[in-house]
Amino acid sequence: MLRLVTVALLVFLHAEGADSLVWHPKARTFDLDFRERPLNEFLGYIRSETGWEVRVEPGLSQLVDGKFRGKPAADAIRLMLGRTQFKLVPRTQGGTRLTVYSGNIGAATQEVQAVVQEAAAFEEVLVEGELQITLPVKIHYFKSKYASINADPNATDLRPLFAGMNEIWEIANLRFLLNQPELLRAADAAAEREFANLFTPDVPKAFVRQHQARILHKLLPDLPDRGKAFHIVLIYTMPDAYGAVYLPAKGVILMPQVKFAKLIDPKGVWKDGSPVFYAQSNILAHEMGHALSLNHVATQGNLMIDGRLREGFGIGPGVGLSVEQIEKARKQAKTKGPYVPGVNSKPNVGE
Ligand SMILES: [Zn+2]
Repeated sequence: MLRLVTVALLVFLHAEGADSLVWHPKARTFDLDFRERPLNEFLGYIRSETGWEVRVEPGLSQLVDGKFRGKPAADAIRLMLGRTQFKLVPRTQGGTRLTVYSGNIGAATQEVQAVVQEAAAFEEVLVEGELQITLPVKIHYFKSKYASINADPNATDLRPLFAGMNEIWEIANLRFLLNQPELLRAADAAAEREFANLFTPDVPKAFVRQHQARILHKLLPDLPDRGKAFHIVLIYTMPDAYGAVYLPAKGVILMPQVKFAKLIDPKGVWKDGSPVFYAQSNILAHEMGHALSLNHVATQGNLMIDGRLREGFGIGPGVGLSVEQIEKARKQAKTKGPYVPGVNSKPNVGE
């Protein structure tokens, strides 16, 4: 009995006490819930969730307070800052910049450091009458002596990409939250060498296509909680690269870090607002769809369309999901883990 009471109290405190900031990069809106938090902390949340460059006038301090949903970025910031001035400049090339100052914009010389929201846990919460499922995602960066494998946790900011993915999955009331990245060692030294050798100039493309998947499966360890938790593994690059891929047998989404290297600025931020930023968010959302047991479809505009059937170039803009797809994905989500054959099978839908 006592234990039940304790649990209920903790949930209550969590719901009441946590500041939250949800960024929708495509709609350019915020959902916010902040109770008397210091300005720098609030700006740090913006920095981490949006990937924007945020500058503030040193010494500027105030408490911010507010709660709303779906508010356009500039309106949201104006509401939170009150009389403090700011300038919000969206830039496709360099990423958006937010500058906060009291009177003179030139005084905003201090760069705001990211404040990362707490590590996530699986959670089902009623939001406006609907059950929202929060799925924590474990992030791993390959560590290897081979440059083609070794990924750098400081060179990629996944949080804005997750914001883009979450914006797409909002229709199913699913939210993915990142856990702190961990380093991952290759499972097999021979596979590591074999993978690195795929990059030697005289290796024919056909050989790469034939062997890449087999080598990657040897390279990736069998994570002990595969099928029971969501995983994304970052590898530095791939010789025959795609934006990301879900590997059902391993239960991981594998994502090359520098497929879109030209999008990463010197500070390691995926430049928000650019077409390729959205492409990568869509790819991640699509692969998460596979992890959530969804197959390819042939419907134009659907998130799960087979890339070879899509009209037009690039990834997207298909983000649609059918009622059946939503039902299936939510059933899979409730198992707390992705589809992994023999470990966590696909849910039955419509029975
Ligand atoms: Zn696919």
